[in-house]
Amino acid sequence: MNNAFVTLVTNADYAMGAVALARSIRRTGTAADIAVLHTGGVSRDALTPLEPLGCRLVETGHLPLSDAFNERHGRSRLHGTAPFTKGRKPDFHTPLDNFCKLRLWQLVEYDKVVFIDADALVLKPIDKLFAYPEFSAAPNVYESLADFHRLNSGVFVAKPSTETFAKMLAALDQPEAFWRRTDQTFLEAFFPDWHGLPVFMNMLQYVWFNMPALWDWESIAVLHYQYEKPWEKDHPKADRLRPLIDLWHAFYEDRDLPDIGSWPTPGEQT
Ligand code: UDP
Ligand code: MN
Repeated sequence: MNNAFVTLVTNADYAMGAVALARSIRRTGTAADIAVLHTGGVSRDALTPLEPLGCRLVETGHLPLSDAFNERHGRSRLHGTAPFTKGRKPDFHTPLDNFCKLRLWQLVEYDKVVFIDADALVLKPIDKLFAYPEFSAAPNVYESLADFHRLNSGVFVAKPSTETFAKMLAALDQPEAFWRRTDQTFLEAFFPDWHGLPVFMNMLQYVWFNMPALWDWESIAVLHYQYEKPWEKDHPKADRLRPLIDLWHAFYEDRDLPDIGSWPTPGEQT
């Protein structure tokens, strides 16, 4: 079976994220490809560190969407219509770029793909996800039990298909369609019967301080830095997320990691 982990980068910041992600995937010892979809917004220099990690660089572009769609989903328009109240997005985050994720359905050379956001780390082997059906994703849990109703599109299992891709484009750009959380809201609507992955397949960083009882290093397969990014110089939650930020830097700099049993737990002073 020909399978791949796929991520997306549209600028130099997310390319940094992809380097740490690719390192973390390589450390799991997987035999699957790592494909990095990148747009013209990323310089060659920013992509270079991905080459020695054996990543396949796949140039892609924005989706052919109407001007009206692009206006509705522009950064300031979207942030005005559907403001983020729980956390903050970095300045280098462009909501419209998120929709480029859907391009992975065009990678028909692969039987199955596991998409992972560039702001995530893989901490355990997850090749078994290739055997899961389309569309599988973990819940968007970071505050309360109510979060289990929604999916998070930072990790999901999909089956590339030009037919599915065409259907998606048609469903996406409807007159007046507004996807308040971009690809995430769209995928939830497009796959109403989505399969639930365990929450540990996409553990969101805010769980660290909002739901510490759910934190278990031994179980976490993918750690996802939603909202503020660990490579931002300073961000409003940096103090509360310090051990997770340090972990990201250890992967980014390819340092050795201490034994998992000695990793800090939520609430512990470090
Ligand atoms: N992304 C990108 N450029 C952007 C916005 C998003 O490359 O300007 C990609 C990147 O892979 C990123 C993913 O889309 O991880 C989703 O965005 P983000 O992770 O910032 O959203 P969050 O997880 O905070 O909701
Ligand atoms: Mn993300």
